[in-house]
Amino acid sequence: MIYWKKLSKEERNNKVQKALNANVNFSKDTSLGYPASKLDGKVFYDADFLKDAPVLQTFVANPNHIGCHTLGDSESAFKGTHVLEKEVLDVLAVDVFKANPNEYDGYISPGGTEANIQAIWMYRNFFQYKNHATLAEIVILASEDTHYSIPKAANVLQLDWLKIPVAFENREIDAIALEAIIVTAKENGKKYFIVVSNMGTTMFGSVDNPEVYTTILEKYNLDYKLHIDGAYGGFVYPFSNEKSIINFSNPKISSITIDAHKMLQAPYGTGVFICRKGLIENVLTKEAQYVEGMDLTLCGSRSGANAVAVWMILFTYGPHKWFEKVSVLQMRTQYLCTELDNLGIRYFREPHMNIVTIHSEFIPKTIAEKYDLVPETHNSENKWYKIVLMNHVEVQHLTIFIDELKETLLCLKQN
Ligand SMILES: *Cc1c(COP(=O)(O)O)cnc(C)c1O
Repeated sequence: MIYWKKLSKEERNNKVQKALNANVNFSKDTSLGYPASKLDGKVFYDADFLKDAPVLQTFVANPNHIGCHTLGDSESAFKGTHVLEKEVLDVLAVDVFKANPNEYDGYISPGGTEANIQAIWMYRNFFQYKNHATLAEIVILASEDTHYSIPKAANVLQLDWLKIPVAFENREIDAIALEAIIVTAKENGKKYFIVVSNMGTTMFGSVDNPEVYTTILEKYNLDYKLHIDGAYGGFVYPFSNEKSIINFSNPKISSITIDAHKMLQAPYGTGVFICRKGLIENVLTKEAQYVEGMDLTLCGSRSGANAVAVWMILFTYGPHKWFEKVSVLQMRTQYLCTELDNLGIRYFREPHMNIVTIHSEFIPKTIAEKYDLVPETHNSENKWYKIVLMNHVEVQHLTIFIDELKETLLCLKQN
């Protein structure tokens, strides 16, 4: 760990204070040109308690983090809090995902959806600029368990998406089907492949092996770029599986999406996009002239308070406490799995993740509804229900669920 450490409450407050002081202060400075101000004072007044609540203080000060702060200049009015965003990215890119210092670009995006679209947009333009590729020659490869932000990206960016089947029980990519799909795509004129490999799918928590994609693509000498969707798993998998090589130590991986507003319990609006240097320039919007520096992001204005919120969480925990938190969730997940095993109930669980997805035939609908289990599909075809072991899901809740499930199954058996 180079950047990530635990800071005391006082150290955190001082750093955020210092950052805010380095920003333009809309309530004191004469600043005439910005279409922005602090939040409306009639509603968001400067209450005394804000001095002990750095994130809320930043929220009221309302800094704009428009643009990308890892490359070139940025809007100087908010340079103080930009530094904290850069620190968040250093922790994630370098300490967690093993990039070399200063060899990555990235930003805190509105969410995982945008980070995924940003990645595909970047690779689409890369192939267009570098290889003069046409839209029809570029194609997205991702498994059938992939989040719907990928078909959304395909639609927005006007690219085809080839959905790769997975095995029903273990959710692993069907390598034989994948090879056949790639061969057919090649025959149909596809030359450039944008691969999205999941590090924790939304429904199963399953983790794709990116090698399955790269081995076949390299066998046929095909051009590809590899993106990792760790929107859900990004704050779990690297901690529960310390031997993981799904990170920038693998030269084939070029970008990663991580959501802070899922496992990290940060406020919504805290997706994270990270890519290797030399790629993000492909989405430069030259017309963005009023923004100081370059706009290399999909969204325009975004709140600096979100960056400070993520910064606060990371530096309140530090790496060891975060590891401990993930370990506790792993133990609870194991507890649930053991209970399900005892009942002879079948489920899928990736051993390093905190999602348990149960075969729906074992879960009466009444129980699924009572405990808010999420079905794979909201229709009669549904085959799975998932339980996500988030921080608020404690063993005590699991025992109540298991006891009721046991009783219900027993009654069903007797009738
Ligand atoms: C949640 C999720 C997304 C989308 O993230 P949002 O923050 O909701 O936009 C993308 N991919 C995966 C795997 C997810 O779990």
